[in-house]
Amino acid sequence: MRSGRRTWPAGRSRTKKYRNPVMQFTFDAPTIIRTKRDGGVLSDEAIDWVIDGYTHGRVADEQMSALLMAIFLRGMTKAEIVRWTTAMVNSGERMDFTDLRRDGKPLALVDKHSTGGVGDKITIPLVPVVMACGGAVPQAAGRGLGHTGGTLDKLESIPGFTAELSKAQIRQQLCDLGAAIFAAGELAPADRKIYALRDVTGTTESLPLIASSVMSKKIAEGAKALVLDCKVGSGAFLATEAESRELARTMVELGAAEGLMTRALLTDMETPLGRTVGNAVEVAESLEVLAGGGPADVVELTLALATEMLDAAGVDGTDPAQTLKDGTAMDRFRELVSAQGGDLDHPLPIGAHAETVTAPRSGTMESIDAMSVGLAVWRLGAGRSVPGGRVQSGAGLRIHRRPGEPVAAGEPLFTLYTETPERFQAALAELDGAFSIGDEPPQQRPLIIDRITSGD
Ligand code: URA
Repeated sequence: MRSGRRTWPAGRSRTKKYRNPVMQFTFDAPTIIRTKRDGGVLSDEAIDWVIDGYTHGRVADEQMSALLMAIFLRGMTKAEIVRWTTAMVNSGERMDFTDLRRDGKPLALVDKHSTGGVGDKITIPLVPVVMACGGAVPQAAGRGLGHTGGTLDKLESIPGFTAELSKAQIRQQLCDLGAAIFAAGELAPADRKIYALRDVTGTTESLPLIASSVMSKKIAEGAKALVLDCKVGSGAFLATEAESRELARTMVELGAAEGLMTRALLTDMETPLGRTVGNAVEVAESLEVLAGGGPADVVELTLALATEMLDAAGVDGTDPAQTLKDGTAMDRFRELVSAQGGDLDHPLPIGAHAETVTAPRSGTMESIDAMSVGLAVWRLGAGRSVPGGRVQSGAGLRIHRRPGEPVAAGEPLFTLYTETPERFQAALAELDGAFSIGDEPPQQRPLIIDRITSGD
C-alpha cells in the first residue's frame, strides 16, 4: 500500500485510451477536486478529462460543484484558464457563418456580451441598432445568473418568443434580418451545465469561471469581432475595479488567441441601469429606448457599445443614434421578435401584486446600491434558486427616483412586482439600507470608465 499524499497527475501507468483525446481511466474527479482544493495546478489533460466527463455525465453535479467551489476559492493560472476555456469550446460545435452573403457581400459579423449587471437590458435595444446600421449579430445569450438578469429570461417574457433556434434558422435570420438571439444549445454545452450549476452553488463571482464562461460561448458562436461590457461596481460579480480590469484583459487575450478580435468597455454598475430591473419591465423600457426615449444611461451605453461594435466590424458611414430617432432600430426589433415567434402587440406581463417603498425624508437621491436591488428582484421571483427553475416574467422593480433626482418625503421611490406576494418581505429586507437620500446632489459617476483592447 502506498503512503503519503500523491501529487497530480496520478496513475498514468493504468492508461486506457479514451476518445477525444482524453484518457478516461487515468483521472478521477475526487483527485482533481483535492488538487484544486489544496491549491495545486490542474494539468491540461485533467482539465480536458473533467470538462468532457461533466458534459457527458461521467462527472456528477456534486463533484463539479465541489470543483467549482475549489476554483472559486483557489483561482486558476492563466494557462489553466486558457485550457478550461478551450475544453469548454471543444465540448460542442463551433458555428461558421463566413459563407453567408447579404447583397453579395460577406456579413459584418459582430457580437457583444456583458459580464452581468442589474437592470442591464442593453442587448435588447443594441442588437436592432447594430442591425439597422448594417452589422450582423449572432447572439448566443444567457439566462439569469446570481443577482443579475439574463437576456433570454427577459425576451421570453414577450408572448410567443423563443430562443430555441435551429442552426438553419440562425443562418436564415442572419442573412435576411441581420441578427438571431438564441440559447447557446450545442455551443459550449459544458458552459450551459456549469453556468446553471454556478447559479445555485454560490460560485458565480470567480474571474476564471466568468472569463471561460463568456469566452467559450463567444468563440464558438462564429462572430468575427466581439465587444465586451465589463461591469465595475457593487452590482458586478467582481468586487473591485482592479479585478474587473483583470477580467477584461483576460477575456480580450482569450479572444485574440482564437482569432476573435475582442475589445472591452469597463462600465459603471454601482447603480442599476435605467429605471427598471426584472424581466418584462426591462423589455418595456427597451421599447421606450427604441422609440427614441428611455433613460439617458441606457441610451448612452447602447450607443457607445454600438459604435464599438460597428467599428470592430468595419461598418462605417452610419449613425447609431439616428436609428433610434428615425424608428429603423424599432422596425428591426419588431422583425427580429416576430421571426422568433414573439408578439409585441400582446401586452407584456406584469406581476399581479405590487408593493411601494416611499421616501422617509425629502432631499436628493444620493445612491442606489445595484447589488441590493438585484437581490431584491431575484427574491421577487425574477431569478432561480434551483437549476432550471421557472422565472416569473412579471417579477420586477421600477425605480422612481434615480441618483441626483429630487425626492419629497412620502413619495414613491420603488415599486415592486411579483406573482407571489409572500416574497415581498424578503425583497423589502434587501432594499433596507440600499439607498440614501441626502441634502446635496451626489458627484456624477462616469458611465464608461475605460476601454481595453488587445495589448493594453
Ligand atoms: N455571462 C456569462 O456568460 N457567464 C458568466 O459567468 C457571467 C456573465
